[in-house]
Amino acid sequence: MGYSVIIPAAGVGKRMKHHRNKLFIELQGQSILERTLNIFETHPLCDEIIIAVNKQDVQDIEQLRAQYTKIKRLVEGGVERQHSIYHALKHIENDIVMVHDAARPFVVHEQINMLYQSVVEGQHAVLGVRAKDTIKMVDEHKIIKSTLDRNSIYHIQTPQAFTKKVLTKAYDDAFSKGILGTDDASLVEQSGIAVAIVEGTDTNIKITTPIDIQLGELILQNMVKRNER
Ligand code: C5P
Repeated sequence: MGYSVIIPAAGVGKRMKHHRNKLFIELQGQSILERTLNIFETHPLCDEIIIAVNKQDVQDIEQLRAQYTKIKRLVEGGVERQHSIYHALKHIENDIVMVHDAARPFVVHEQINMLYQSVVEGQHAVLGVRAKDTIKMVDEHKIIKSTLDRNSIYHIQTPQAFTKKVLTKAYDDAFSKGILGTDDASLVEQSGIAVAIVEGTDTNIKITTPIDIQLGELILQNMVKRNER
């Protein structure tokens, strides 16, 4: 049994301050989007990729389809990430579905395998890394209200993996109640279903601001070095 992956790629990338979708920025000669697609195209258990795209990017992304046999469909992106994923979710063919941000081109197969295994065993799961800094809650004047226990704080990444049934119900409920979440797990949590964290790595960054491009180059160099050893 394989899985489907939804890749939301329809952001505007305001924080990158780039003239077009940041996903077309190249890292060592290949775009961020291509690097992300490569990961799933070459992952044996993945058998369907659905990408949410902006109207103005459709032509460029259509051209990429020749390189990727697993891209089954492009869907129109929405106002928010959540809308983009909802459009794609309607077309998923597998019982297991992952959602992975196009802007995270460094996730590795080993981590995807762990998420897949977790869902197969009945546990929805997302990648996350333990917080390194102390995290505080503040009020509207930035006055600290409380200090959270760092040991129970995780930074959440993607992929996020679920059964199609649970994720679809969570999205249907969220839209009918007008709930907007910043990730997929938060919608599943709202429907009262447990989601576990699979320990991720710091290198699975989401390329967001210009400094992340430099960081990305560094991560790539290290990945190449490790593979040469
Ligand atoms: O903006 P940010 O990097 O947090 O977005 C995460 C992912 O969601 C990106 O890959 C982006 O292209 C995608 N996205 C989308 N539709 C939106 C907003 C973001 O597909 N409306």
